[in-house]
Amino acid sequence: MTKAKSPFTNALEQLRLACDYLGVEENIYNFLSNPQQIVSVSIPVRMDNGKIEVFEGYRVLHSNARGPGKGGIRYDSKVDMDEVMALAMWMTWKCAVVNLPLGGAKGGVTCDPTKLSPREVEKLTRRFTSSIIEVIGPQIDIPAPDMNTGPQEMAWIMDTYSMGVGKTVPGVVTGKPIEIGGSLGRNSATGMGVSFMVRELAKRKKIDLKKTTVVVQGFGNVGSWAAKTLNEWGAKIIAVSDISGGYYNPEGLNIEKMFEYVQKHRILENYPDKKVKKISNAEILELECDFLIPAALENQITAENAGKLKCKFIVEGANGPTTPEADKILFNKGIEIIPDILANAGGVTCSYFEWVQDLSALRWSLEQVNEELEKIMLDAFDQVYVMKENKKKISFRLAAYLIAVQRVAKAVEYRGFFP
Ligand code: NAD
Repeated sequence: MTKAKSPFTNALEQLRLACDYLGVEENIYNFLSNPQQIVSVSIPVRMDNGKIEVFEGYRVLHSNARGPGKGGIRYDSKVDMDEVMALAMWMTWKCAVVNLPLGGAKGGVTCDPTKLSPREVEKLTRRFTSSIIEVIGPQIDIPAPDMNTGPQEMAWIMDTYSMGVGKTVPGVVTGKPIEIGGSLGRNSATGMGVSFMVRELAKRKKIDLKKTTVVVQGFGNVGSWAAKTLNEWGAKIIAVSDISGGYYNPEGLNIEKMFEYVQKHRILENYPDKKVKKISNAEILELECDFLIPAALENQITAENAGKLKCKFIVEGANGPTTPEADKILFNKGIEIIPDILANAGGVTCSYFEWVQDLSALRWSLEQVNEELEKIMLDAFDQVYVMKENKKKISFRLAAYLIAVQRVAKAVEYRGFFP
């Protein structure tokens, strides 16, 4: 097995490819291949046992050419600078492909949150926020949840920032609890966005959605909402999986029941249904189906299993579920992929709505959120689809990159290089 390249090396390769294809000026490529700002901080936390532990935290702004930085904060033991730099760059392309007036950023703290008490997580979050207070803000860079962070952490960030600047500033983070300026519809937004992509792709390929079969890897926030929405629209969900394994019924699963089950039990372990066959997470990816939705983790579809896939299309709910090597194999096999930067952009789009609501001190209804979400996702899908058709023989991924990189490169060109 070849050693996997670092995430930032992959990100640079993708940028190089798009810039070469578009004929982007070398000066602009050079500028975009470097994050604009990297902040690295030490976060001392007095643990419950009285000892001080020092954690490493990062906030990277890749580009603010089109607007303030936007991107999540992740807590994980694998977080390092290279990963955060790559994630920040991908946020730039994700915001650009759906045409949000935002740039790309990301943050992270290297820690194992399963080993921290709630009190320790709070102290870590507040000290981290305080250390990066100069580089975040509603007009500068707006964090959001990512792996192992959620509404509670966002509330602490909002509170710490607000204490620091002496006034309540809800627009400094998104993904907050509704009570302090969070948006309705944020929970379902990413999964619904994925479902819009499946529905539109079926429409363009003249496939009746009601006659399609769907497999979903990961039944968390993104996967369960995508499965639920597509099931309601009449697609047959034949298999889903989570950390406890795969659940398969060729006649179609009872998604409503499974959705309710995970709301109560968090995972599908011991889900009671005699018609369901338990299979492995490797097997689920190789089932014959129309749409495969990886919505769990990165690097799930690799050079090792890509050749065995029997789906017709892949719609990437997760970030980076397909390795670049697998991408090439699937392209040659004729399996088309709606890439993560487009397919899962429903989350950041709803975050953008939250920011807009906070800045304007208005509250949108759920209907308004979902309508605007659909409009933005369908527009972006259409533009990527047309780009792919026009260029011939390119993937949806490259088409999405071409649109995103072109938008950011143009913004840089118009703004010029200060001074
Ligand atoms: P989540 O934690 O809610 O769900 C993850 C799911 O994956 C869970 O069901 C978990 O059991 C399952 N899982 C974990 N390891 C697995 C394995 N080895 N095999 C199969 N399933 C496994 O996370 P989420 O918010 O749904 O995010 C999923 C992916 O989507 C991530 O890549 C995330 O970065 C991406 N994403 C999420 C959002 C969002 O708004 N939540 C937005 C954009 C992208």
